[in-house]
Amino acid sequence: MTGSRLERLHAALANQGLGALIVQGEANLRYLTGYTGSNGLALVGAGGEDRFFTDFRYAAQIEQELEPGFEPEIAEAGELLEALGARLPAGRVGFDDRTTSVRRRARLGELAGDRVELVAAAGLVEDLRAVKDEDEIALIAAAARLTDGIYEWLLERGLGGRTERELAIALEHEMRVRGASGPSFASIVASGAAGALPHAKPRDVAIERGTLVTLDIGSLVDGYCSDCTRTFAVGEPSAHAREIYALVLAAQLEGLAAVAPGRSGREVDAQARAVIAAAGHAEHYGHGLGHGVGIEIHEAPRMARTAADAELRSGNVVTVEPGVYLPGELGVRIEDLVVVRDGGAQILSSVTKELLAVD
Ligand code: ZN
Ligand code: ZN
Repeated sequence: MTGSRLERLHAALANQGLGALIVQGEANLRYLTGYTGSNGLALVGAGGEDRFFTDFRYAAQIEQELEPGFEPEIAEAGELLEALGARLPAGRVGFDDRTTSVRRRARLGELAGDRVELVAAAGLVEDLRAVKDEDEIALIAAAARLTDGIYEWLLERGLGGRTERELAIALEHEMRVRGASGPSFASIVASGAAGALPHAKPRDVAIERGTLVTLDIGSLVDGYCSDCTRTFAVGEPSAHAREIYALVLAAQLEGLAAVAPGRSGREVDAQARAVIAAAGHAEHYGHGLGHGVGIEIHEAPRMARTAADAELRSGNVVTVEPGVYLPGELGVRIEDLVVVRDGGAQILSSVTKELLAVD
């Protein structure tokens, strides 16, 4: 499977007229080479010459992990770039201009000399990563199932009485017990007026009855992330809370219905957003509809007003997560993780979206 990832990258390089590409960053390296350590670099050649550089600490690890297509080279820990520089082919070589520091870019220029033309080429591997293969989808689905199980576990135990922080710690611990290597991002547990802050940090504040609580959580399983938000009522919700919940759910279902290959992320965002705007709450929904999920919790493609024009493709895995945030009062967000399929959205999150009143 990874062999074909490398083939797809070779094709992309040929397409861009690049003789080679310098690949860096843990997520890109994991995707392409199988390597899960923290000090690595790869030089992928359009002509099929692919090298991987790390230091002696990872020599044993790469024997287990490195994809067979890569020729390993062991360098001094601080000198991977120098080792790679010695292997640069003449001609156009792409580098990641988004994550390369100014200082590193200068060093690369020295190493490249006159016969190598360094070309800004950020996003080539990220673009491949945006379309998942079935092995990856199975891993993301497993991470989503684990997160679903955490929701069931939480609902059995109730949410009220404990502090937001206690709840966040408990659920992250339970994720690990169930086989996750950890949460895929810092868990959000936001009750009452804190729910109106989309990125609220869990507080040392008890969750009170008569409020809504938004949980936004995900598990990291075998290197892949999941992401799921639910909003629950603790005790009986107010009529206003019910009304806002119903609105966000309607927008979320509209967003799910809009997901299809060939639609742009901007269009899908607009279709869901229109539901919230029609109810007069446009200014209470300040974030995008969704983002890609995979090895990283936020990756391509984005679905937002400001997203690039790119179209969704079959095999994208994205979230659909509208929200309404009323400052000083309450917030509601509902988020599913979905696979873009030819027939539409395949939903990986299975926790109920009825407004549950829990204790
Ligand atoms: Zn989320
Ligand atoms: Zn999300």
